[in-house]
Amino acid sequence: MFKNHISKLLVVPFLALFISCTQKNTDTQSTKALMGETITAEKQAALTPQTILASLKEGNERYVNNDLTARDLQAQVKATATGQYPEAVILSCIDSRVPVEHVFDKGVGDVFVARVAGNTVNPDILGSIEYGAAVAGSKVIVVMGHEACGAVKASIDEADLSDNADVLLDRVNPAIEAVQGYDDRTSANGAFVDDVVKTNVDMTIDEMLVESPVLKGLLDKGEIMIVGAYYDLDTGKVTFVEN
Ligand SMILES: [Zn+2]
Repeated sequence: MFKNHISKLLVVPFLALFISCTQKNTDTQSTKALMGETITAEKQAALTPQTILASLKEGNERYVNNDLTARDLQAQVKATATGQYPEAVILSCIDSRVPVEHVFDKGVGDVFVARVAGNTVNPDILGSIEYGAAVAGSKVIVVMGHEACGAVKASIDEADLSDNADVLLDRVNPAIEAVQGYDDRTSANGAFVDDVVKTNVDMTIDEMLVESPVLKGLLDKGEIMIVGAYYDLDTGKVTFVEN
């Protein structure tokens, strides 16, 4: 009885010590596992449009699998404070369910993100993308629409919010007119809406190339790639359309 007591007395502190050591080791390991690397000028120069697109696809796969990279964001903040060398420019809708950096598992300094409801282009957006590609060296431009886009629906419904919103929603009209073959051409028809979303992405890329000789020139020289993408709200999966 007495002996048992002693051994229990010894075992308990020993166990506690063992557990605290193990916890400490796990903590250290998880700290070490945080990714603090960022894209440097040298790394950016070594990237090709193909490797960048592959990295975006892999990042989205991690997002879909709930396996995002654990980042040391403060290390990345410090590492990028004096310069940025992003690999891609992503034009997205403002929809809160499309968290762009997460969607591609990217960190600080990795991608430029231009956002406007309906992911269309205007001079401000084009100038921003031109800066990303021609000045900051990004080699992939992604135009990403998403399932059940509210801006596309509002444009289909000819919603009347304000003069500002009219200008914005009018940019989606060419895509609505281009999509044919639907009896129900209202926002209640999900198939029609998604067809317009995808057509809007294609037509936005076409317009980008007409309105921006800078981007057209980079594309013709093979220095950049421009791809369309569609984000599925149910799964988080991005489907790329490579032209
Ligand atoms: Zn949207």
